[in-house]
Amino acid sequence: MGQDTKYIVGVDLGGTNIVSLLMNKRGEVLERDARLTLAKEGRERTISQITGSVSAVLEKGRELGISPDSLLGVGIGSPGPLNTKKGVIHFAPNLPGWREVPLVEILTQKLSMPVFLENDANAAALGEWWKGAGRNTSNLVLFTLGTGIGGGIIIDGEVFHGAWDTAAEVGHIIIHEEGLLCNCGTRGCLEAYASATGVVRRTVKAIKEGRETILTDWVQNRLEDITCELVYKAAQKGDKLCSWIVEETARYLGVGIASIVNILNPEVVILAGGMIKAKDLLFKPVREYAKRYALKDAIEGVSIVPAELGDDAGAIGAAATVLKRKGLL
Ligand SMILES: [Zn+2]
Repeated sequence: MGQDTKYIVGVDLGGTNIVSLLMNKRGEVLERDARLTLAKEGRERTISQITGSVSAVLEKGRELGISPDSLLGVGIGSPGPLNTKKGVIHFAPNLPGWREVPLVEILTQKLSMPVFLENDANAAALGEWWKGAGRNTSNLVLFTLGTGIGGGIIIDGEVFHGAWDTAAEVGHIIIHEEGLLCNCGTRGCLEAYASATGVVRRTVKAIKEGRETILTDWVQNRLEDITCELVYKAAQKGDKLCSWIVEETARYLGVGIASIVNILNPEVVILAGGMIKAKDLLFKPVREYAKRYALKDAIEGVSIVPAELGDDAGAIGAAATVLKRKGLL
Protein backbone atom coordinates (compact mmCIF):
# COMPACT_ATOMS: atom_id res chain seq x y z
CA MET A 1 0.00 0.00 0.00
CA GLY A 2 1.43 3.43 -0.99
CA GLN A 3 2.25 6.30 1.32
CA ASP A 4 -0.70 8.38 0.14
CA THR A 5 -3.18 5.77 1.23
CA LYS A 6 -2.43 6.30 4.90
CA TYR A 7 -4.88 8.20 7.07
CA ILE A 8 -4.93 9.91 10.43
CA VAL A 9 -7.54 11.02 12.94
CA GLY A 10 -7.29 14.22 14.94
CA VAL A 11 -9.44 14.84 18.00
CA ASP A 12 -9.92 18.13 19.76
CA LEU A 13 -11.08 17.47 23.30
CA GLY A 14 -12.72 20.64 24.57
CA GLY A 15 -14.63 21.39 27.75
CA THR A 16 -17.87 21.61 25.74
CA ASN A 17 -17.34 19.84 22.42
CA ILE A 18 -15.30 17.04 20.94
CA VAL A 19 -14.35 17.41 17.27
CA SER A 20 -12.87 14.50 15.31
CA LEU A 21 -11.47 14.71 11.80
CA LEU A 22 -10.45 11.93 9.45
CA MET A 23 -7.66 13.30 7.29
CA ASN A 24 -5.18 12.08 4.73
CA LYS A 25 -1.46 12.76 4.97
CA ARG A 26 -1.74 15.75 2.68
CA GLY A 27 -3.90 17.40 5.31
CA GLU A 28 -7.23 17.17 3.54
CA VAL A 29 -10.23 16.69 5.79
CA LEU A 30 -12.29 13.72 4.61
CA GLU A 31 -14.78 13.29 7.42
CA ARG A 32 -15.81 15.25 10.50
CA ASP A 33 -17.73 14.46 13.67
CA ALA A 34 -18.66 16.85 16.47
CA ARG A 35 -20.43 15.92 19.66
CA LEU A 36 -20.79 17.10 23.24
CA THR A 37 -18.04 16.36 25.75
CA LEU A 38 -20.60 15.81 28.53
CA ALA A 39 -17.87 16.70 31.00
CA LYS A 40 -20.31 17.02 33.90
CA GLU A 41 -21.36 13.39 33.47
CA GLY A 42 -17.88 12.29 34.44
CA ARG A 43 -14.68 10.98 33.01
CA GLU A 44 -15.95 7.63 31.74
CA ARG A 45 -18.78 9.31 29.83
CA THR A 46 -16.38 11.76 28.18
CA ILE A 47 -14.00 8.97 27.23
CA SER A 48 -16.86 7.07 25.60
CA GLN A 49 -17.79 10.28 23.75
CA ILE A 50 -14.21 10.40 22.40
CA THR A 51 -14.22 6.78 21.25
CA GLY A 52 -17.74 7.26 19.83
CA SER A 53 -16.58 10.26 17.85
CA VAL A 54 -13.47 8.51 16.50
CA SER A 55 -15.55 5.45 15.57
CA ALA A 56 -18.04 7.71 13.78
CA VAL A 57 -15.42 9.22 11.44
CA LEU A 58 -13.87 5.79 10.88
CA GLU A 59 -17.30 4.40 10.01
CA LYS A 60 -17.87 7.22 7.50
CA GLY A 61 -14.35 6.57 6.19
CA ARG A 62 -15.21 2.94 5.59
CA GLU A 63 -17.96 4.12 3.25
CA LEU A 64 -15.25 5.96 1.29
CA GLY A 65 -13.32 2.69 1.08
CA ILE A 66 -10.82 3.56 3.81
CA SER A 67 -9.92 0.47 5.80
CA PRO A 68 -9.02 0.76 9.50
CA ASP A 69 -5.72 -0.96 8.61
CA SER A 70 -4.63 2.15 6.75
CA LEU A 71 -4.92 4.32 9.89
CA LEU A 72 -1.60 5.60 11.23
CA GLY A 73 -3.06 6.62 14.54
CA VAL A 74 -5.15 9.06 16.51
CA GLY A 75 -3.92 12.39 17.86
CA ILE A 76 -5.66 14.00 20.80
CA GLY A 77 -5.45 17.71 21.55
CA SER A 78 -6.40 18.07 25.18
CA PRO A 79 -6.53 20.74 27.83
CA GLY A 80 -3.87 20.38 30.48
CA PRO A 81 -1.44 20.51 32.22
CA LEU A 82 -0.42 17.18 30.78
CA ASN A 83 2.58 15.00 29.95
CA THR A 84 2.90 14.46 26.21
CA LYS A 85 5.54 11.73 26.52
CA LYS A 86 3.69 9.66 29.12
CA GLY A 87 0.29 10.46 27.62
CA VAL A 88 -1.13 11.50 30.97
CA ILE A 89 -3.45 14.43 31.69
CA HIS A 90 -2.51 15.78 35.11
CA PHE A 91 -5.52 17.99 35.52
CA ALA A 92 -8.04 19.91 33.38
CA PRO A 93 -10.10 22.75 34.86
CA ASN A 94 -12.98 22.21 32.39
CA LEU A 95 -13.08 18.43 32.83
CA PRO A 96 -14.24 17.80 36.40
CA GLY A 97 -12.72 14.69 37.99
CA TRP A 98 -9.80 14.47 35.58
CA ARG A 99 -6.67 13.97 37.66
CA GLU A 100 -3.66 11.96 36.47
CA VAL A 101 -5.65 10.31 33.68
CA PRO A 102 -3.50 7.98 31.48
CA LEU A 103 -5.58 8.91 28.43
CA VAL A 104 -3.18 7.50 25.85
CA GLU A 105 -3.11 4.10 27.54
CA ILE A 106 -6.90 4.03 27.92
CA LEU A 107 -7.60 5.06 24.31
CA THR A 108 -4.91 2.83 22.80
CA GLN A 109 -6.65 -0.10 24.44
CA LYS A 110 -10.18 0.95 23.47
CA LEU A 111 -9.35 1.96 19.88
CA SER A 112 -6.68 -0.68 19.20
CA MET A 113 -4.43 1.77 17.41
CA PRO A 114 -1.58 4.16 18.29
CA VAL A 115 -2.71 7.27 20.18
CA PHE A 116 -0.69 10.46 20.74
CA LEU A 117 -1.35 13.31 23.14
CA GLU A 118 -0.72 17.01 22.62
CA ASN A 119 -1.71 20.11 24.56
CA ASP A 120 -4.73 21.76 22.86
CA ALA A 121 -3.11 25.15 22.25
CA ASN A 122 0.07 23.50 20.94
CA ALA A 123 -2.12 21.42 18.64
CA ALA A 124 -3.84 24.55 17.34
CA ALA A 125 -0.44 26.14 16.67
CA LEU A 126 0.69 22.99 14.84
CA GLY A 127 -2.55 22.99 12.84
CA GLU A 128 -2.05 26.60 11.76
CA TRP A 129 1.57 25.82 10.90
CA TRP A 130 0.57 22.81 8.80
CA LYS A 131 -2.52 24.05 6.99
CA GLY A 132 -3.39 27.56 8.20
CA ALA A 133 -1.97 31.05 8.64
CA GLY A 134 1.51 29.73 9.43
CA ARG A 135 2.02 27.38 6.48
CA ASN A 136 5.36 27.77 4.72
CA THR A 137 6.96 29.17 7.87
CA SER A 138 9.35 27.54 10.37
CA ASN A 139 8.84 29.71 13.43
CA LEU A 140 5.54 30.98 14.76
CA VAL A 141 3.73 31.96 17.91
CA LEU A 142 -0.02 31.51 18.36
CA PHE A 143 -2.09 33.48 20.86
CA THR A 144 -5.62 32.15 21.50
CA LEU A 145 -7.72 34.99 22.83
CA GLY A 146 -10.67 33.54 24.71
CA THR A 147 -11.85 33.32 28.30
CA GLY A 148 -8.12 33.10 29.01
CA ILE A 149 -5.14 33.48 26.71
CA GLY A 150 -3.45 30.29 25.60
CA GLY A 151 -0.57 29.82 23.27
CA GLY A 152 1.53 27.57 21.12
CA ILE A 153 5.05 27.97 19.80
CA ILE A 154 6.58 26.32 16.74
CA ILE A 155 10.37 26.49 16.45
CA ASP A 156 12.10 25.14 13.35
CA GLY A 157 8.88 23.40 12.38
CA GLU A 158 8.46 21.58 15.69
CA VAL A 159 6.19 22.20 18.67
CA PHE A 160 8.22 23.69 21.50
CA HIS A 161 7.24 21.84 24.70
CA GLY A 162 9.93 22.99 27.11
CA ALA A 163 11.43 20.68 29.73
CA TRP A 164 8.11 19.40 31.14
CA ASP A 165 5.40 20.48 28.77
CA THR A 166 4.60 23.85 30.32
CA ALA A 167 6.06 26.05 27.58
CA ALA A 168 4.15 28.62 25.53
CA GLU A 169 1.98 30.05 28.30
CA VAL A 170 1.97 33.38 26.52
CA GLY A 171 -1.10 34.51 28.47
CA HIS A 172 1.07 34.75 31.55
CA ILE A 173 3.64 37.12 30.14
CA ILE A 174 3.71 39.73 32.89
CA ILE A 175 3.00 43.21 31.60
CA HIS A 176 2.47 44.96 35.00
CA GLU A 177 4.25 43.35 37.92
CA GLU A 178 1.79 44.74 40.49
CA GLY A 179 -1.21 44.80 38.18
CA LEU A 180 -4.57 43.03 37.99
CA LEU A 181 -4.90 39.65 39.64
CA CYS A 182 -4.68 36.77 37.15
CA ASN A 183 -6.37 33.33 37.31
CA CYS A 184 -2.92 31.82 37.87
CA GLY A 185 -2.66 33.61 41.20
CA THR A 186 -0.03 36.15 40.26
CA ARG A 187 -0.55 39.74 39.18
CA GLY A 188 -0.31 41.62 35.94
CA CYS A 189 -0.40 38.78 33.40
CA LEU A 190 -1.44 39.60 29.83
CA GLU A 191 -4.45 37.30 30.30
CA ALA A 192 -5.82 39.46 33.12
CA TYR A 193 -5.97 42.42 30.71
CA ALA A 194 -6.40 41.24 27.15
CA SER A 195 -8.46 38.03 27.32
CA ALA A 196 -12.18 38.38 26.54
CA THR A 197 -12.77 38.20 30.30
CA GLY A 198 -10.16 40.88 30.91
CA VAL A 199 -11.74 43.18 28.33
CA VAL A 200 -15.16 42.83 29.96
CA ARG A 201 -13.73 43.31 33.46
CA ARG A 202 -11.92 46.51 32.50
CA THR A 203 -15.02 47.85 30.74
CA VAL A 204 -17.31 47.17 33.70
CA LYS A 205 -14.80 48.77 36.06
CA ALA A 206 -14.70 51.93 33.92
CA ILE A 207 -18.51 52.11 33.84
CA LYS A 208 -18.68 51.71 37.61
CA GLU A 209 -16.19 54.56 37.88
CA GLY A 210 -18.66 56.74 36.00
CA ARG A 211 -17.56 56.50 32.38
CA GLU A 212 -20.45 56.79 29.92
CA THR A 213 -21.03 54.34 27.10
CA ILE A 214 -23.76 53.16 24.75
CA LEU A 215 -23.26 49.72 26.31
CA THR A 216 -25.30 50.54 29.41
CA ASP A 217 -28.34 51.13 27.15
CA TRP A 218 -27.62 48.01 25.12
CA VAL A 219 -27.64 45.80 28.22
CA GLN A 220 -30.32 47.88 29.98
CA ASN A 221 -27.93 48.54 32.85
CA ARG A 222 -27.36 44.83 33.48
CA LEU A 223 -23.58 45.13 33.47
CA GLU A 224 -23.24 41.36 33.88
CA ASP A 225 -24.62 41.03 30.32
CA ILE A 226 -21.66 42.89 28.79
CA THR A 227 -19.57 40.65 26.54
CA CYS A 228 -16.29 41.22 24.77
CA GLU A 229 -18.16 41.06 21.46
CA LEU A 230 -20.46 43.90 22.55
CA VAL A 231 -17.46 46.02 23.56
CA TYR A 232 -15.99 45.62 20.07
CA LYS A 233 -19.38 46.28 18.47
CA ALA A 234 -19.76 49.51 20.42
CA ALA A 235 -16.22 50.52 19.46
CA GLN A 236 -17.12 49.93 15.82
CA LYS A 237 -20.00 52.36 16.29
CA GLY A 238 -17.57 54.96 17.62
CA ASP A 239 -18.39 54.63 21.33
CA LYS A 240 -15.66 56.54 23.15
CA LEU A 241 -15.17 54.29 26.17
CA CYS A 242 -15.20 51.09 24.12
CA SER A 243 -12.84 52.54 21.52
CA TRP A 244 -10.46 53.37 24.35
CA ILE A 245 -10.80 49.86 25.82
CA VAL A 246 -10.13 48.31 22.41
CA GLU A 247 -7.10 50.55 21.89
CA GLU A 248 -5.78 49.70 25.35
CA THR A 249 -6.32 45.96 24.72
CA ALA A 250 -4.32 46.26 21.51
CA ARG A 251 -1.55 48.01 23.43
CA TYR A 252 -1.38 45.21 26.02
CA LEU A 253 -1.31 42.60 23.26
CA GLY A 254 1.34 44.60 21.44
CA VAL A 255 3.49 44.63 24.58
CA GLY A 256 3.10 40.86 25.00
CA ILE A 257 3.80 40.18 21.35
CA ALA A 258 6.85 42.47 21.40
CA SER A 259 8.32 40.52 24.34
CA ILE A 260 7.97 37.17 22.66
CA VAL A 261 9.11 38.46 19.28
CA ASN A 262 12.28 39.79 20.93
CA ILE A 263 12.99 36.39 22.45
CA LEU A 264 11.96 33.98 19.68
CA ASN A 265 12.23 35.90 16.41
CA PRO A 266 9.19 34.22 14.78
CA GLU A 267 8.18 34.88 11.18
CA VAL A 268 4.52 35.08 12.03
CA VAL A 269 2.39 35.77 15.09
CA ILE A 270 -1.11 34.34 14.78
CA LEU A 271 -4.05 35.53 16.84
CA ALA A 272 -7.00 33.15 17.27
CA GLY A 273 -10.30 33.18 19.16
CA GLY A 274 -13.57 35.12 19.07
CA MET A 275 -11.87 38.50 19.34
CA ILE A 276 -10.29 38.27 15.87
CA LYS A 277 -13.74 38.89 14.38
CA ALA A 278 -12.99 42.56 15.17
CA LYS A 279 -10.52 42.40 12.24
CA ASP A 280 -8.70 45.72 11.59
CA LEU A 281 -10.11 47.27 14.74
CA LEU A 282 -7.88 44.80 16.60
CA PHE A 283 -5.06 44.03 14.17
CA LYS A 284 -4.16 47.53 13.04
CA PRO A 285 -3.34 48.89 16.51
CA VAL A 286 -1.82 45.56 17.66
CA ARG A 287 0.64 45.73 14.75
CA GLU A 288 1.46 49.35 15.54
CA TYR A 289 2.05 48.71 19.24
CA ALA A 290 4.06 45.54 18.66
CA LYS A 291 6.28 47.54 16.33
CA ARG A 292 6.61 50.33 18.87
CA TYR A 293 7.68 48.06 21.74
CA ALA A 294 9.76 45.36 20.01
CA LEU A 295 13.37 45.51 18.92
CA LYS A 296 13.51 46.87 15.42
CA ASP A 297 15.51 43.99 13.99
CA ALA A 298 13.20 41.42 15.56
CA ILE A 299 9.82 42.87 14.53
CA GLU A 300 10.87 43.90 11.01
CA GLY A 301 9.10 41.53 8.63
CA VAL A 302 6.97 39.77 11.27
CA SER A 303 3.39 39.21 10.12
CA ILE A 304 0.72 39.51 12.79
CA VAL A 305 -2.29 37.78 11.28
CA PRO A 306 -5.61 36.14 12.14
CA ALA A 307 -5.83 32.36 12.44
CA GLU A 308 -7.34 30.65 9.41
CA LEU A 309 -8.59 27.29 10.63
CA GLY A 310 -11.22 28.47 13.12
CA ASP A 311 -12.65 25.83 15.43
CA ASP A 312 -10.93 22.97 13.58
CA ALA A 313 -7.35 24.16 14.21
CA GLY A 314 -6.97 21.94 17.28
CA ALA A 315 -8.24 18.79 15.59
CA ILE A 316 -6.14 19.42 12.46
CA GLY A 317 -3.09 19.94 14.68
CA ALA A 318 -3.93 16.81 16.66
CA ALA A 319 -3.92 14.86 13.39
CA ALA A 320 -0.59 16.47 12.46
CA THR A 321 0.74 15.33 15.84
CA VAL A 322 0.45 11.71 14.67
CA LEU A 323 2.58 12.46 11.62
CA LYS A 324 5.09 14.44 13.68
CA ARG A 325 5.54 11.70 16.29
CA LYS A 326 6.00 9.12 13.57
CA GLY A 327 8.57 11.29 11.82
CA LEU A 328 6.37 11.68 8.73
CA LEU A 329 5.98 15.47 8.83
ZN1 LIG B 1 -1.30 34.59 34.99
